[in-house]
Amino acid sequence: MSWETVIGIEVHVQLRTATKMFCRCSSEYGAPPNTNVCPVCLGLPGALPVPNQGAVDLAIRAALALGCEVHERSEFVRKNYFYPDLPKGYQITQFAHPLATEGTVVMREDGEERRVRIRRLHLEEDAGKSMHDRYAGSTAVDLNRAGVPLVEIVTEPDLRSPAEARAYLSRLKQLLEHFAAVSDCNMEEGSLRADANLSVRPTGETQLGTKSEVKNLNSFSNVEKALVFERERQIGMLERGEEVASETRLFDLSAGETRPLRGKEEDFDYRYFPEPDLVPLEVSAATVDTARKALGELPHELETRLMDQYQLSEYDATLLSARPSRAAYFEAVAGGQDTAFAKTTANFLMGGIAAELNRRPGAAAEQDLLSPDCLARLVELRLDGTLSSDTASQALGLLLAGEGQDVDELVQMHGLAQVGDVDQLAGWVDEVLEAHPDELARYADGEEKLFGFFMGALMRTAGGKADPNKVRELLVERLAAARD
Ligand code: ADP
Ligand code: ZN
Ligand code: MG
Repeated sequence: MSWETVIGIEVHVQLRTATKMFCRCSSEYGAPPNTNVCPVCLGLPGALPVPNQGAVDLAIRAALALGCEVHERSEFVRKNYFYPDLPKGYQITQFAHPLATEGTVVMREDGEERRVRIRRLHLEEDAGKSMHDRYAGSTAVDLNRAGVPLVEIVTEPDLRSPAEARAYLSRLKQLLEHFAAVSDCNMEEGSLRADANLSVRPTGETQLGTKSEVKNLNSFSNVEKALVFERERQIGMLERGEEVASETRLFDLSAGETRPLRGKEEDFDYRYFPEPDLVPLEVSAATVDTARKALGELPHELETRLMDQYQLSEYDATLLSARPSRAAYFEAVAGGQDTAFAKTTANFLMGGIAAELNRRPGAAAEQDLLSPDCLARLVELRLDGTLSSDTASQALGLLLAGEGQDVDELVQMHGLAQVGDVDQLAGWVDEVLEAHPDELARYADGEEKLFGFFMGALMRTAGGKADPNKVRELLVERLAAARD
């Protein structure tokens, strides 16, 4: 029997506001424990929550980036449960009337678009943090995180493999971090946390199987690993005739397996009821409209346009679209130029420039390394043959090392221009043939593969600056003469 895997993902994302969701405490990460707290987020009697407009605006942007419908009226509720890191005894969240519903995230792979439906996006506050490894034998509680604004984003069960779940998370992070710019999506700091739901069913079956949920996965690769394990575990059970339990499980990275945490809680366990201290959240159509206009192209639209307009491969277009700032930089260099220019620009961007960005800590962008005009000139010199691929890389290296922004001057100062002058090239050919009499004799005896050896020696002698086509012609001539 063959099995189909069905996956749905729930993600919590911390919005990048300066202050918490319902009070003015700082939402900064990493402050000393329990210093960013006040009567509201500590849940002291009589304290009243006031919604953070900045958080609402970011949540609207996030919802629009996921193609959701944003509702003009949504409602906050209390989700009641007891836990040491939840001083109020309830979490303010949204339930029956969320901020946004019915979105789509479009992914792209091997020339095909994959659409994942978003069921809902709602606003809520985070709980505090329990730390079990700080003091031996006891648990410490840090309430700095209590009350920071989150959006929860829930997909329909549309994903069909652990790898696809991972691809969805990357796309989601790209959308939220770079396109909507609503969160730093830093998984180590917990700004993006994923819970993964998985079930399996016989191929062809339309009813969903019983799912398990794996909680609090803190990296994309752990999501994928946990789901691979879960898929095998469930298929194994079903094949032995056992039933999969509906339960919440934890992923143990060192053991590489998931373990039961608790039985599945039901919605009624939380005794949801409307938050009596908050009126319904109203968002005008005009606000949504303005936010939509400010958002601009989404990644899949940008990728498609770059492929169409510049004849780039899906691979190139995808890498260039990783961040809107990168695509904008690319277009500042290659806009209005032909496809060869675009391709060469893309190569520089994804080669030497990307490597340099990786070496620099912090959020440097292409623009900070090299002006678009400067890169455009480099591309020109490469395309008209003044620079070889070797010397173009050298020139780029010098530019990135801050040795000037005038490309022509650098090329001249460092003698990087390709040499096409026949006399000079012939001189190098002589030099190389004289230095290697043995190889020359073997070549004359028919050892043809030594041609590559001579080419290599020549390029080294010429410091990478010989025009490879001209030098090849000369070498063919001279070697043929040596053989006669
Ligand atoms: P529950 O509240 O019972 O945990 P929900 O219907 O709220 O389940 O869905 C939670 C997440 O689990 C969603 O992302 C949804 O797409 C996914 N999901 C629901 N049912 C299944 C299933 N049978 N198999 C895989 N994923 C599922
Ligand atoms: Zn507070
Ligand atoms: Mg649910």
